[in-house]
Amino acid sequence: MNILMVYPMYPDTFWSFKHALKFVSKKASFPPLGLLTVSAMLPKDWNKKLIDMNANQLTDDDILWADLVFISAMSIQSVSADDIINKCNKLNAKIAAGGPLFTSSPELYDNVDYLILNEAEITLPMFLEDLKNGIPEHIYTTEDWADITTTPLPDWNLIPMKNYTSMNLQYSRGCPFDCEFCDITVLYGRKPRTKTKDQVIAELDALYFTGWRGPVFFVDDNFIGNKVKLKKEILPAITEWMTKRKNPFYLNTEASINLADDEDLMWQMAKAGFEAVFIGIESPNEKSLIECHKPQNTNRDLIASVRKIQQYGMEVQGGFIVGFDNDHPKIFEELTNFIQQSGIVTAMVGLLNAPKGTKLEKRLLEEGRMLSDFTGNNTDFTINFIPKMDSEILSDGYKSVLKTIYSPKYFYERVMRFMKDFEPKKKKVFHLNPNYILALFRSIFKLGVVGEERIYYWKLFLWTLFRKPQLFSLAILFAIYGFHFKKISNGFC
Ligand code: SF4
Repeated sequence: MNILMVYPMYPDTFWSFKHALKFVSKKASFPPLGLLTVSAMLPKDWNKKLIDMNANQLTDDDILWADLVFISAMSIQSVSADDIINKCNKLNAKIAAGGPLFTSSPELYDNVDYLILNEAEITLPMFLEDLKNGIPEHIYTTEDWADITTTPLPDWNLIPMKNYTSMNLQYSRGCPFDCEFCDITVLYGRKPRTKTKDQVIAELDALYFTGWRGPVFFVDDNFIGNKVKLKKEILPAITEWMTKRKNPFYLNTEASINLADDEDLMWQMAKAGFEAVFIGIESPNEKSLIECHKPQNTNRDLIASVRKIQQYGMEVQGGFIVGFDNDHPKIFEELTNFIQQSGIVTAMVGLLNAPKGTKLEKRLLEEGRMLSDFTGNNTDFTINFIPKMDSEILSDGYKSVLKTIYSPKYFYERVMRFMKDFEPKKKKVFHLNPNYILALFRSIFKLGVVGEERIYYWKLFLWTLFRKPQLFSLAILFAIYGFHFKKISNGFC
């Protein structure tokens, strides 16, 4: 069998980092980990080829070569996924599709031959068995959660790593919390399932021996879902591995704010090489946090929690949402002030949306407020339900937050606030990469010479160079991110 795996394109969003990628001559941020893992579950003697449309073009010849085209996608990739499906349909190519987009809305995909839904560890073998027997069905689903201790190593040989800024690795699935708007618990359950220590080390080894040096993102939705195992087994093993290999990777992940309550955990993560953590902070408005069932974020000084994690040497990146029923028109100013005070440089602010299958969707349906399916992009100014706040006030307020926090003045003020207090716990091993040098020169020209941010850029450049030279590369990275965020928000506002 000739198998073509296709990963649809992301639109231009905050998360695409498209305008930042050009500085480092990369094509995409992360490789398609799901498809690489699915590939490893297919029979070894099948021929496999992977086209990530964020890095390469898909041609008719690619499709005509294949006996079966595998597509995996998230909701945000739906437009590109539809294009691929149409193209395959025209060329009479058989399609097998899976991943969150298809699992959430299988009813929309009658034009896909085989829908392999939920977790591939369970449904893919069912499909392969039927295919072998010549009786494949249209849909494969399960209500069980997969045992990920049997998940194979991703097929890294299918992608050129040089196209990407970061590699990725999954240690766990599921989250013990139950935020009303979140579909993670719908897709992966509330009991965190984890890989074994040996699997994690094998994945790190696989990346290392393919020659990768640089960022590795643990894609878990909540890395600290099972703290006991993390502290007892996983982090000590990663620390030992990183020391033995002379710290080849810069690690980052996503976690819940209760990370700030566990000093041992923060210390162990920093020691293992975690340099940044993305946290869903959502709102400075306590009533909105209660509304969205986020108890872990309530009854605490959120800025103090962020600062605490930063003091342990990990940069906090934050996710924020506006549009809760309890949000009042003052929220926009409050949120802007909160973000500035927290020193969160990478602040992703989105409009509340109700993804398929979530408790929020259920509530809004009962209240007769649902309008349409979620596009998967909560930063594109669409909202798929009728908000309590006047839509125009909400949209204008949201725009004003973006415009303000990514204006050079506010953005660089945040960077400086963060840099002044930030002391990484681990000495950074710098892996010399010609792309980084190129990025430095591009940033000097684009931001320091012709950019409207040039005064702020040089202030940061010189301050870091003389006062905190160990953070110089991070300062340049922030400046490049700022350029991307500004471009995206200018496009919107
Ligand atoms: S903590 Fe994060 S991953 Fe967990 S349910 Fe809430 S939003 Fe989802």
